Amino acid sequence: MFLKGKTALITGSTSGIGLGYARALAAEGANVMINGFGDEAEVAGYVEELKEASGAGAAYSPADMTKPQEIRAMVADCAKAFGGPDILINNAGIQHVASVDEFPIEKWDALIAIILSSTFHATAAALPGMKESGWGRIINTGSMHSKVASPFKSAYNAAKHGVAGFTKTVALEVAQQGITANTISPGYVWTPLVEGQIPDTMKARGLTRDEVMNDVLLANQPQKKFVTIEQVAALAVFLCKEDASAITGANLSVDGGWTAQ
Ligand code: NAD
Repeated sequence: MFLKGKTALITGSTSGIGLGYARALAAEGANVMINGFGDEAEVAGYVEELKEASGAGAAYSPADMTKPQEIRAMVADCAKAFGGPDILINNAGIQHVASVDEFPIEKWDALIAIILSSTFHATAAALPGMKESGWGRIINTGSMHSKVASPFKSAYNAAKHGVAGFTKTVALEVAQQGITANTISPGYVWTPLVEGQIPDTMKARGLTRDEVMNDVLLANQPQKKFVTIEQVAALAVFLCKEDASAITGANLSVDGGWTAQ
C-alpha cells in the first residue's frame, strides 16, 4: 500500500476507466475522491467499497465538468476533506459521432469543455498544493485519438490532441518541483462509453452491431481484443511510483498496437 497518506482526485470516475483508476489507487491505500454522474445509491456503494479497500477515506463530488466554478470547488472540497490532491486524474469524457458539417454545435462545445477545458481547470486548481508539498502526479486520459484520427470524431480528436499538448506544457512548467504530468492513451476499452457509440456508428456507416464491433472498433486494433480497464489502471498506479518519477510529458499508449501502424 505505497499510497497510504496520499489523496487522489479522479474526474469521471463513476463508471468505466475512471472507476478502474479509483479502485486501483484505493487498493494501494490512497484516499480517493470520485466524480461523475450516476445513480445516487450506486455511487454511495462505490464510496463504501473504496473506503473498505483502502482503509482510508473516500468521497464523491457531483461537480459538472462543463462548469469551471464547480471544477475548482471540487478540488477545494478534496483538499478540505483529505488534503491534496496529490494525484489528479483528468478522465471525464463523452463522445459524439457525426461528420464535421453535421456536427451539432452544442455537442462540439460539450466535448471540448468536458475533455479539454476541465483538464485545464482541475490542473490549475490542483497545482498550487502539489507545488507546496513538492510532490504530485497529474495523469490525463488521452486516447489513440490523441495521436491519430478517425473520421466522424472531430471534436473528440481535437479535444484529445489538446489534452496531450496541454499535458506536455504542464510537465515542462513543473519539471523541477517533484510533479510529473503524463497522458495515458488507451485503445478501445470495453466501457459504457464505447457501448454507447455503437448505435450512432451503425447509423452513420449503415452497419450492423457486429460489423461495428469487428470492422470499425477493432479494425485498427492489431491485437483484435478490447484493452481492459485493469490494464489502463495499472499504468496509472505505476506512474505514481518513485520508479516513474523520470517519466513526464509522455503520452503512453495502451492500445493493442493501434498507433504502431
Ligand atoms: P464512461 O462513459 O464509462 O465514463 C465516463 C465518465 O465521465 C463517467 O463517470 C461520467 O459520469 C463522467 N462524465 C461525463 N460527463 C461528465 C460531466 N459533464 N461532468 C462530470 N463527469 C462527467 O467512459 P470511459 O470509456 O470509462 O471513458 C473514460 C475516459 O477514457 C474518457 O476520457 C474517454 O475519452 C477515455 N477513453 C476511453 C476509451 C474506451 O475505449 N473506452 C478509449 C480511449 C480513451
